[in-house]
Amino acid sequence: MNAGETEGEQRGLGRRQVLVGAASLAALAACGAGGGHTTSRRSTTVPTPTTRHTARLRGDPFGLGVASGDPTADGIVLWTRLAPTPLSEGDLSGMPDDPVDVVWEIAIDDRFGSVVARGAATAEPGAGHSVHVEVDGLDPATDHHYRFAVGEWTSPVGRTRTLAAPGERPARFALAVANCQLLDAGRYAAYRHMVDEDLDLVLHLGDYVYEYGGERALPNRIPGRLDDWRLRYAAYRSDPDLRAAHARFPFVCTWDDHEVANNYAGLSLPDDTPPEMVREMRVAAYRAWWENLPVRLPAPEGDALDVHRHLDVGDLVRLHVLDQRQHADEPPCRDTTAGTDLGDCAARTGDERTLLGGEQAGWLDESLAGSGATWDLLGNPVVLAGIDTGTETPLHYLETWDGYPAEQERVIAALDGVDNPVVLTGDYHQAMVLDVHRTPFDTDSDLVCTELMAPPISSPLFSQDVAPRTPHLREQLDAHGYLTVEVTPDDLTGRFRVLDDVTDADSAITTASTWTVAAGERRATRA
Ligand code: FE
Ligand code: CA
Repeated sequence: MNAGETEGEQRGLGRRQVLVGAASLAALAACGAGGGHTTSRRSTTVPTPTTRHTARLRGDPFGLGVASGDPTADGIVLWTRLAPTPLSEGDLSGMPDDPVDVVWEIAIDDRFGSVVARGAATAEPGAGHSVHVEVDGLDPATDHHYRFAVGEWTSPVGRTRTLAAPGERPARFALAVANCQLLDAGRYAAYRHMVDEDLDLVLHLGDYVYEYGGERALPNRIPGRLDDWRLRYAAYRSDPDLRAAHARFPFVCTWDDHEVANNYAGLSLPDDTPPEMVREMRVAAYRAWWENLPVRLPAPEGDALDVHRHLDVGDLVRLHVLDQRQHADEPPCRDTTAGTDLGDCAARTGDERTLLGGEQAGWLDESLAGSGATWDLLGNPVVLAGIDTGTETPLHYLETWDGYPAEQERVIAALDGVDNPVVLTGDYHQAMVLDVHRTPFDTDSDLVCTELMAPPISSPLFSQDVAPRTPHLREQLDAHGYLTVEVTPDDLTGRFRVLDDVTDADSAITTASTWTVAAGERRATRA
């Protein structure tokens, strides 16, 4: 849905539809002290949207909040999902089995006196009554406020920010890196603190939901059908701190394994589940992921959804976002009786196994080669530099890059070809700083870049000290929280923000350590 489409939609409409649109707009105007478009500097030119699909809802449909994502220099994706009873089972979250139109508007100010665009989008039952509105024509590097309305109901107000324009070199760009937020394992104090940061966006590297059910993570079972996954996302999004983070910042999301199943790779699981069953699992899980996150992506076709993409922040940053599960070959040493991918089998070296898949691997090469930005940040779900968790003999988690050594070295070589690469990683339930060497584990080989691993938001900590057999490890923090990354033309600063107590939604947070990479240098220094 495009802001510009609404004008065309006005033609040929009956009086009833026009009045419905006006009612929703009146609801929006009623919350803005400035009275909406009449006081706007620009909104006299903003067309009034009209709606066709109406419904009498049984309650406030905005309980899952609002979100924005995948910003560009002149656009943003606005998201909401209508759900009067988000945690009910088997009744479309209280929505009728019909399309319902949602009016949206986006303004410079939080009182909606300066509306810059508005329109109507149709929430389809086949999309879980979610909408992904792609607004364009916005000013670059600018804060915006947005909201939705259906009939008498108005959503909470969200805040978002566009990116710097092409050719610009902003003085500062900042993001937070989040991952691994198992709902029943802790509270979301990390998000409660994150909303106080000055950030351009949040990069989410996956394990946004887990397949495991729990007291809060409804349904309390492993999801089977799409309905189960929709309820699972609703259960996670029922957390007020997660909702607040989405309302505060645009998110850029990729996924890891638990959005489908633990350690899935392509169409294989670390057990004897047949590939056709994994495909069915992916169809439902991918669909629900797409419905529930503010991504600038078309709906998946079956179990296919290209998630890899990049964002440009003027000439300062290119952020490359990767998918390391959908196209992955089965890792080596897979033991389906034990259900693990742990080992150091001979197959680890010299093979042509792919983690990215051929299409994405080629795209990454082009995305890096064509960048030209001062900083190239790699949104890389699973650890690249290599980790050996063994004590006396090597032991690798082989569904990370360590199981795909030939491609691992190709990606590292490609990173070596850009000026200032930095890898941002999740998945490991620890925070780390690692040196990425041209040949992993060979600290005599060239140092290519720094890898910053974000701590988990709430998932159980891995805790094992990997230092004995991981010589390129610079720091390991056994803590929950998030990572902030602040970029200027001169340097990049990573701050590990860690919680005192993940079981306390009110937990204090501190900066456990700060690392800086100067432009032109590959090695991070501790501040
Ligand atoms: Fe995880
Ligand atoms: Ca994971």
